[in-house]
Amino acid sequence: IDGEGASVVTERVSTAGGRAIEVAANVGGEAELGPAAERGADGIGLFRTEFLFYDRESPPGEDEQYETITAALAAFPEDRVIVRTVDIGGDKPVPYLDLPAETNPFLGSRGIRLSLGDHAGLFETQLRALLRAAGHAEAREDGGELAVMFPMISRIEEAEAALEVVESVAADLEDQGVDHAVPELGAMVETPAAAFTADALADRLDFLSIGTNDLTQYVMAADRENDAVADYHDPLHPAVLRAIDRTTSAASGTDAWVGMCGEMAGDPALTELLIGLGLDELSMSAVTVPAVKQRVREIETEAASDLAAEALACETRAEVRDLLGA
Ligand code: PEP
Ligand code: MG
Repeated sequence: IDGEGASVVTERVSTAGGRAIEVAANVGGEAELGPAAERGADGIGLFRTEFLFYDRESPPGEDEQYETITAALAAFPEDRVIVRTVDIGGDKPVPYLDLPAETNPFLGSRGIRLSLGDHAGLFETQLRALLRAAGHAEAREDGGELAVMFPMISRIEEAEAALEVVESVAADLEDQGVDHAVPELGAMVETPAAAFTADALADRLDFLSIGTNDLTQYVMAADRENDAVADYHDPLHPAVLRAIDRTTSAASGTDAWVGMCGEMAGDPALTELLIGLGLDELSMSAVTVPAVKQRVREIETEAASDLAAEALACETRAEVRDLLGA
């Protein structure tokens, strides 16, 4: 994907028909915040917190995490910063946590499963830092805000349990007289289970963010890191598109908004399709933000809906690729 040639658009963008689309950046470390802002990102749509846990002997404490999150808020003072709670396990091992060796780590203990299981203490510490940072953002009154999302959700009960932990952390902070706020809360939709129960997730949460890297892996039963099956790992397979549609359609009857933070979101050749599928926000590598923002402005919303309907009717990914010229 070549987004490098496009010039930076600093303001927010809408389609030709006036539908506002947020174009945000994915960030995996503090060093990426400045470049994301320079590329004109409308905030952070995915702040991966795993980097905080790497290259060290013990997990980061609450204050360290608070400092990192407030640095992200400072880089985007008027925008939303969506922080994902730690998504370790799977492809993201952390040696000192002594995670179990698994035959199929991508189908094993990762993300929210660890946060609600063996590593509940880490989850609470991280949520304390996040709720304090949300309080800090609220107190600044410059329009910037924090949002928090949970990775690898596959059961409604996990979303409910995560919300309960947030509530109990908020109650503890209240008792201790520590400044805090409860941020907007969301779930990543990156398992077929989440896509097919998106209505129930959308009822309980403020937003959903579709992680097409994992969603494609799980829908297609093709390991995202295995070159031998790389050809199967195609988000333009009709099954993946239908899972995305299922998610946006399920949320459309609720107050929850839906974004996308997988690699697919950063391809300007797919922007029209994604807008047609009903996404409100697209989050991507900072480098592609300018090209996607420019593309959004050219799109006629009705043509985008028609394109999405045609893509959803395709039976093979070859038909989808033909349709999109992709
Ligand atoms: C995804 O799965 O699409 C995603 C954005 O998360 P990650 O790539 O960090 O697993
Ligand atoms: Mg993922």
